[in-house]
This record gives sequence, C-alpha cells and structure tokens, in this order.
Amino acid sequence: MSDSFDLVVIGAGPGGYVCAIRAAQLGMKVACVEKRATLGGTCLNVGCIPSKALLHASELYAEANGHLAEMGIVARDVSVDVAKMMAFKDKGVKGNTDGVAFLFKKNKVEPVHGTARIAAPGKVEVSLAAGGTRVLEARNIVVATGSDVMPLPGVEIDETRIVSSTGALELKEVPGHLVVVGAGIIGLELGSVWGRLGSKVTVVEFLDRITPGIDAEVAKTFQRILKKQGFDFRLGTKVTGIDKTRKHLKVTVEPAQGGDAEVIEADIALVCIGRRPYTQGLGLADLGVALDDRGRIRTDRGFKTSVDGIYAIGDAIAGPMLAHKAEDEGVAIAELLAGRAGHVNYGVIPGVIYTAPEVAYVGRSEEELKDAGIAYRVGKFPFTANGRAKVNLQTDGFVKILADATTDRILGVHIIGTDAGNMIAEAAVAMEFGASAEDVARTCHAHPTLTEAVKEAALAVDGRALHM
Ligand SMILES: Cc1cc2nc3c(=O)[nH]c(=O)nc-3n(C[C@H](O)[C@H](O)[C@H](O)COP(=O)(O)OP(=O)(O)OC[C@H]3O[C@@H](n4cnc5c(N)ncnc54)[C@H](O)[C@@H]3O)c2cc1C
Repeated sequence: MSDSFDLVVIGAGPGGYVCAIRAAQLGMKVACVEKRATLGGTCLNVGCIPSKALLHASELYAEANGHLAEMGIVARDVSVDVAKMMAFKDKGVKGNTDGVAFLFKKNKVEPVHGTARIAAPGKVEVSLAAGGTRVLEARNIVVATGSDVMPLPGVEIDETRIVSSTGALELKEVPGHLVVVGAGIIGLELGSVWGRLGSKVTVVEFLDRITPGIDAEVAKTFQRILKKQGFDFRLGTKVTGIDKTRKHLKVTVEPAQGGDAEVIEADIALVCIGRRPYTQGLGLADLGVALDDRGRIRTDRGFKTSVDGIYAIGDAIAGPMLAHKAEDEGVAIAELLAGRAGHVNYGVIPGVIYTAPEVAYVGRSEEELKDAGIAYRVGKFPFTANGRAKVNLQTDGFVKILADATTDRILGVHIIGTDAGNMIAEAAVAMEFGASAEDVARTCHAHPTLTEAVKEAALAVDGRALHM
C-alpha cells in the first residue's frame, strides 16, 4: 500500500466522500480519512438519512390515524413499536453507508479509518482506528470535517434524557413530554417525529419567530400549521438551566429580555440550537490556517485556505450547513484541482424542511429583497385551489414566487405544502437558467399535479392565475 497520494480528503461526509469520488473519476490517486467506523459523515449516520427515515415512518403512522378513514380505509389497532422503527431506521442508514464503501471500492478511493491531523502541508498523520499511526503524503489536502452540535451553556447533554439530535434519533420509548430547545429546522423535524408518535411537544425559542432566515410569511403559516398539529410554542423565551436530579426534568425558562423564571416539567429535553464547525485536533492553528469569527475555516472562492495545498469545504466553512451544498463544493474543488472549471452558485441552494407539510425555498426571501432595496413582484397560489391537493386532502400551504419588478427574473421561490421538497427542484433549475416568472408560467405542467401550483404562482406574478 503506497502512502503517497494526489489528494487526501479528511472526513467522509457528503462533502468529503463526493470530493474523493469525483477526484478519483478525474484520474487522481485519492485517500479519504474518516474517524467514524462507517462512511457518510453526519448526514448518513446521525443526520439527514436517519431523521428522514423516522419522519417517513412517523408520517405514515400519523396518516393511519388521520385521513385514511376519510378515504374509506379502515385501519384498526394501529400502534407503534419503537424498537422496530429504530431497527428500520438503522437498516436504512447501513444501506446508505455501505453504499459509500461500495462507491469508494468502485472508484478506487482508499478509505483510511482513523483520526487525521495535518502535520505539515502535504503531510497527513493518521492515528489509525486499528492502532498505530500512518503518515500519508499528499499533493493536496481537502478538509471536510463537518460540524458538531452547538452546546447550550450550563446544560450538559447526556444523550439519554438531555439529548442532541443524535440522542433524539435513538430514544427507546415515546417521551410523554418533549421540550425542544430551539425552533430551527432540525428541532422542528425531530419534534414532529415524536409528536406524531404521541409526545406532547413544547418548543422554546429565544427569538420571537420560528425558523429564522426563512421567508417570514412562510414561517408564520408553518407555525400555525404546527400549532394545529399540537406543537406548543414558547417564543421570545430562553432556557436558563435543566435540572435532571428528579424523575422529571425541570427546564427553567424565562423571557428572552429578562423577567420571571418558570419551570417546565419534561421527560426529554432536545437541545437543538444549531451546529458549529468541527475543526478540533487537525493542527490548523500550528499550520497558520485562518478561521473566521465563528470558527469556520476561511477560504477563497476556490476553497483554498490561507495555507498553500490545504483546501476546505462543507459545514467546516461558511455557507448553509446542508449536505447538498457540501457535495457541490466537493465536486467543485475536485474539478479545480484537476485543472477544470468548478464553481458553486450560492444564490441557488435549495433548503427543505421535511415536516408535514414540507417547507422548501430557494433564492431570496421577501425580507432579504426589501433589505437589499430590490423592487419585486409577488405571485402566490394556495394549495386549496389545486385540484390534486384537494382530492388528496393535502390543501395546507401555498407557492410564492418573487420576481424582479423590472426584468421578471425569478429571485426567490418559497413553498409550504406536501412534496414541497421535490417541487423546489423546478424552481432551482429555472433560477439556474435565469428564468423569468413568465418562462415558468408558459411551461406546460402535467395535470393533475401539485406542480401546477408553481405554474399558477408564476401566472399570479402577472396577475393572471387561472384557478383562483
Ligand atoms: C439531525 C440532522 C438532520 C439533518 N438533515 C439534513 C437534511 O435533511 N438535508 C441536508 O441537506 N442537511 C441535513 N443536515 C446537515 C448535514 O448533515 C450536513 O450539512 C452535512 O453532513 C455536512 O457535510 P460535511 O461533509 O461537511 O460534514 P459531515 O457530514 O459532518 O462529515 C464530516 C466527517 O468528518 C469526520 N472527521 C472530523 N474530523 C476528523 C478527523 N480529524 N479525522 C478523520 N475524520 C474526521 C467526522 O467523523 C465526519 O464523519 C442534517 C444534520 C443533522 C444533525
């Protein structure tokens, strides 16, 4: 086994493993170091994949107790076996992580299991999982070490009663009362899982709104729908401590701006206040690799750090902490290192919240356009007026298209509704090609599909929606 490589990638998450595969496709000799026992990073092991497995299963359960009877389907004695649901989720995770191992083999990427440290530019020292040390010589190094859970000061996460997202994906039983700290995407997704399975869910959020950063009108509708599903929101409220010395947790909260404290009793507290870049132990400070004020590795547009031969991508650098953003950066840096053109269009990175209904968005929100002083027109179409949504009893939500007031170019698309996560792909392609709302309005959309609501919203930009 030679220890000299064209490229050594540190971290086998969606950023790292995709980078390694693309670089190998382009003829490079590649090794990918991963300290976890399985490949796929946060996303496949404790993130996107397990959370979506539980969201899917719990949504089917909710549906069995929801609309099925209305459709003439009699489902008796539907109940949940948490252990089996967890086994189903674990099987899905294994299928995905094994898939990455297969792809490495197919593309001749060498996986190295252990913890990497950059001893010097061109030199990666791996403390091997199997014991011992191995030094890899590398013409180039890509750091793709991802992110980790952001801790809440004064609260110790034990992953049994006070859990992060990782512990919330492993609960042994349905908690009576789940308190979610933080009304961001991950907290609301995991709150939905356990809420559907029977938990009372209280969400405590410091800000006076949920899902900060998302179009405010969508966020408001989203909050109203979640409330209807049983979520209790305590906005403008902060958690100051969690006492776990008794049978029930005692979560102390107080108004964000100060005021009287109050105690909420809970069975499980899920701390979900964000994620922070993970760069510990890499030796970056000794090498002089610069970080920004949020601990992210500073890079230029070509993913180059402040040290020659060392690049960084994914959650460890600036930008949205999303798997597909990390993947696209992985491809881009591999292509740049091969002397080709590689770039990521940060203006067109879709985001999806996989609740029911889903929330999906790409481009700018109304607030961002207002802040930037850009004049825009709005086209909106509700799913209550879409034939397929009506017949499927899935009428919550709407499509909103924001187009430049002068050129009609689409600047942002925001969807709340069933299957929004798939529908947003059309908007992303349209924006990538610089489409106008008129272009989408004149594109034939199959009937009856939910996507007709996208076309209608595009027509609505020009005030000529047909079914409203
Ligand atoms: C519960 C949850 C749900 C999520 N859902 C979604 C979703 O639906 N869609 C979406 O787009 N994003 C989702 N995300 C975010 C997504 O998982 C991340 O954006 C993505 O994994 C980032 O990819 P990455 O390659 O940068 O890093 P990671 O996936 O974090 O991978 C980094 C890898 O590097 C390894 N590593 C770190 N340091 C070293 C070292 N020194 N030596 C060797 N290995 C090292 C780590 O063990 C890790 O496996 C979710 C996250 C969570 C927690």
